[in-house]
Amino acid sequence: MLLIDVTQIPPEGLEVDSALTAGEIHVEGEDSFRLEEGGRLVCRVEKGDSDSVHVRGRLDCRLGVECSRCLEPFAYPLAQELDLFYLPRVPGLDSEEDAELSDRELVVAYYEAARIDLGDMLREQLLLALPMKRLCSESCAGLCPVCGTNRNLAACTCVIASEPFSPFANLIGKGPVS
Ligand SMILES: [Zn+2]
Ligand SMILES: [Zn+2]
Repeated sequence: MLLIDVTQIPPEGLEVDSALTAGEIHVEGEDSFRLEEGGRLVCRVEKGDSDSVHVRGRLDCRLGVECSRCLEPFAYPLAQELDLFYLPRVPGLDSEEDAELSDRELVVAYYEAARIDLGDMLREQLLLALPMKRLCSESCAGLCPVCGTNRNLAACTCVIASEPFSPFANLIGKGPVS
Protein backbone atom coordinates (compact mmCIF):
# COMPACT_ATOMS: atom_id res chain seq x y z
CA MET A 1 0.00 0.00 0.00
CA LEU A 2 1.72 3.14 -1.16
CA LEU A 3 -0.82 5.73 -0.12
CA ILE A 4 0.04 7.00 3.34
CA ASP A 5 -2.43 8.84 5.51
CA VAL A 6 -0.16 11.03 7.63
CA THR A 7 -2.66 11.14 10.48
CA GLN A 8 -2.50 7.34 10.71
CA ILE A 9 1.28 7.07 11.16
CA PRO A 10 1.75 5.66 14.69
CA PRO A 11 4.33 7.23 17.02
CA GLU A 12 6.65 4.27 16.55
CA GLY A 13 6.52 4.65 12.79
CA LEU A 14 5.11 2.60 9.98
CA GLU A 15 6.80 -0.29 8.22
CA VAL A 16 6.03 -0.50 4.53
CA ASP A 17 6.87 -3.66 2.62
CA SER A 18 5.06 -3.59 -0.65
CA ALA A 19 5.21 -5.35 -3.98
CA LEU A 20 5.06 -2.77 -6.74
CA THR A 21 2.63 -2.57 -9.59
CA ALA A 22 2.85 -0.24 -12.55
CA GLY A 23 -0.48 1.25 -11.55
CA GLU A 24 0.61 2.09 -8.03
CA ILE A 25 3.76 3.84 -9.14
CA HIS A 26 2.04 5.53 -12.08
CA VAL A 27 4.20 4.22 -14.89
CA GLU A 28 1.53 2.45 -16.93
CA GLY A 29 1.78 5.04 -19.67
CA GLU A 30 5.57 4.99 -19.97
CA ASP A 31 6.73 3.88 -23.39
CA SER A 32 10.47 3.91 -22.70
CA PHE A 33 10.35 1.28 -19.95
CA ARG A 34 8.00 -0.98 -18.09
CA LEU A 35 8.06 -2.29 -14.56
CA GLU A 36 8.88 -6.00 -14.41
CA GLU A 37 7.25 -8.21 -11.81
CA GLY A 38 9.00 -8.60 -8.49
CA GLY A 39 9.61 -4.93 -7.74
CA ARG A 40 9.56 -4.08 -4.07
CA LEU A 41 9.60 -1.13 -1.73
CA VAL A 42 10.72 -1.68 1.84
CA CYS A 43 10.78 1.43 3.97
CA ARG A 44 10.05 2.97 7.29
CA VAL A 45 7.80 6.00 7.54
CA GLU A 46 8.15 8.15 10.63
CA LYS A 47 6.62 11.38 11.75
CA GLY A 48 8.93 14.13 12.92
CA ASP A 49 8.69 17.71 14.11
CA SER A 50 6.11 20.08 12.64
CA ASP A 51 4.32 17.42 10.62
CA SER A 52 7.42 16.40 8.72
CA VAL A 53 7.52 12.80 7.56
CA HIS A 54 10.74 10.88 7.14
CA VAL A 55 10.86 8.02 4.65
CA ARG A 56 13.87 5.74 4.71
CA GLY A 57 14.30 2.49 2.91
CA ARG A 58 15.06 0.80 -0.31
CA LEU A 59 13.57 0.36 -3.72
CA ASP A 60 14.42 -2.76 -5.69
CA CYS A 61 13.01 -3.44 -9.09
CA ARG A 62 13.77 -4.38 -12.64
CA LEU A 63 12.74 -2.29 -15.58
CA GLY A 64 12.17 -3.74 -19.00
CA VAL A 65 14.01 -1.51 -21.46
CA GLU A 66 15.50 -1.67 -24.92
CA CYS A 67 19.28 -1.64 -25.44
CA SER A 68 20.34 1.68 -26.98
CA ARG A 69 22.88 -0.11 -29.21
CA CYS A 70 21.40 -3.44 -30.30
CA LEU A 71 17.73 -2.64 -29.61
CA GLU A 72 17.21 -5.98 -27.82
CA PRO A 73 14.94 -5.89 -24.77
CA PHE A 74 16.60 -6.54 -21.43
CA ALA A 75 15.88 -6.04 -17.75
CA TYR A 76 17.64 -3.10 -16.13
CA PRO A 77 18.07 -3.76 -12.40
CA LEU A 78 17.55 -0.80 -10.17
CA ALA A 79 18.36 -0.67 -6.47
CA GLN A 80 17.96 2.66 -4.81
CA GLU A 81 18.42 3.73 -1.22
CA LEU A 82 15.74 6.17 -0.19
CA ASP A 83 16.04 8.87 2.44
CA LEU A 84 13.70 11.76 2.14
CA PHE A 85 11.65 14.22 4.07
CA TYR A 86 8.13 15.25 3.36
CA LEU A 87 6.76 18.51 4.61
CA PRO A 88 3.16 19.67 4.54
CA ARG A 89 2.61 22.11 1.72
CA VAL A 90 1.52 25.42 3.15
CA PRO A 91 -0.79 27.26 0.74
CA GLY A 92 0.60 30.59 -0.36
CA LEU A 93 4.05 29.99 1.08
CA ASP A 94 6.83 30.62 -1.40
CA SER A 95 9.25 27.75 -1.79
CA GLU A 96 12.12 30.25 -1.36
CA GLU A 97 11.42 29.97 2.33
CA ASP A 98 12.76 26.45 2.27
CA ALA A 99 16.30 27.57 1.50
CA GLU A 100 17.56 26.66 4.94
CA LEU A 101 16.25 23.14 4.60
CA SER A 102 18.15 22.51 1.42
CA ASP A 103 21.32 23.41 3.33
CA ARG A 104 20.87 20.13 5.12
CA GLU A 105 21.22 18.38 1.79
CA LEU A 106 18.03 16.51 2.25
CA VAL A 107 15.61 15.53 -0.39
CA VAL A 108 12.45 17.36 0.48
CA ALA A 109 9.08 16.70 -1.01
CA TYR A 110 5.70 18.06 -0.08
CA TYR A 111 2.42 16.49 0.75
CA GLU A 112 -1.06 17.89 0.75
CA ALA A 113 -4.25 17.01 2.57
CA ALA A 114 -2.35 14.69 4.95
CA ARG A 115 -1.74 12.21 2.13
CA ILE A 116 1.56 10.97 0.80
CA ASP A 117 1.61 8.87 -2.33
CA LEU A 118 4.87 6.95 -2.21
CA GLY A 119 4.08 5.84 -5.76
CA ASP A 120 4.66 9.36 -7.06
CA MET A 121 8.01 9.44 -5.32
CA LEU A 122 9.00 6.04 -6.72
CA ARG A 123 8.12 7.08 -10.25
CA GLU A 124 10.38 10.10 -9.88
CA GLN A 125 13.19 7.93 -8.51
CA LEU A 126 12.92 5.60 -11.48
CA LEU A 127 13.00 8.43 -13.98
CA LEU A 128 16.05 9.94 -12.28
CA ALA A 129 17.93 6.67 -11.93
CA LEU A 130 17.34 5.26 -15.39
CA PRO A 131 20.17 6.36 -17.68
CA MET A 132 19.43 7.82 -21.10
CA LYS A 133 21.86 5.37 -22.63
CA ARG A 134 20.81 1.86 -21.68
CA LEU A 135 23.16 -0.91 -22.66
CA CYS A 136 22.39 -4.63 -22.39
CA SER A 137 26.09 -4.98 -21.56
CA GLU A 138 29.07 -2.63 -21.56
CA SER A 139 30.52 -4.63 -24.40
CA CYS A 140 27.37 -4.70 -26.50
CA ALA A 141 28.56 -4.72 -30.11
CA GLY A 142 25.38 -3.18 -31.42
CA LEU A 143 23.91 -3.47 -34.86
CA CYS A 144 25.91 -3.46 -38.06
CA PRO A 145 25.23 -0.04 -39.58
CA VAL A 146 25.26 -1.58 -43.04
CA CYS A 147 23.13 -4.74 -42.84
CA GLY A 148 21.52 -4.36 -39.43
CA THR A 149 22.79 -7.69 -38.09
CA ASN A 150 22.96 -7.87 -34.31
CA ARG A 151 26.72 -8.21 -33.94
CA ASN A 152 26.36 -9.77 -30.49
CA LEU A 153 24.73 -12.78 -32.15
CA ALA A 154 26.34 -13.08 -35.54
CA ALA A 155 29.23 -11.75 -37.55
CA CYS A 156 28.63 -10.21 -40.93
CA THR A 157 31.08 -9.44 -43.69
CA CYS A 158 30.18 -5.83 -44.24
CA VAL A 159 33.06 -3.44 -44.70
CA ILE A 160 32.58 -0.43 -42.51
CA ALA A 161 34.38 2.63 -43.76
CA SER A 162 35.31 4.18 -40.47
CA GLU A 163 34.80 2.58 -37.09
CA PRO A 164 34.03 5.06 -34.37
CA PHE A 165 37.21 6.04 -32.52
CA SER A 166 37.69 3.99 -29.38
CA PRO A 167 40.09 5.41 -26.80
CA PHE A 168 40.52 1.94 -25.33
CA ALA A 169 41.43 0.09 -28.46
CA ASN A 170 45.16 0.71 -28.01
CA LEU A 171 45.16 -0.43 -24.42
CA ILE A 172 43.95 -3.94 -25.09
CA GLY A 173 46.62 -6.49 -24.18
CA LYS A 174 49.06 -3.95 -22.82
CA GLY A 175 48.16 -4.44 -19.19
CA PRO A 176 47.79 -1.72 -16.59
CA VAL A 177 49.54 1.58 -17.13
CA SER A 178 52.17 2.07 -14.45
ZN1 LIG B 1 22.80 -4.38 -26.65
ZN1 LIG C 1 26.73 -6.09 -41.69
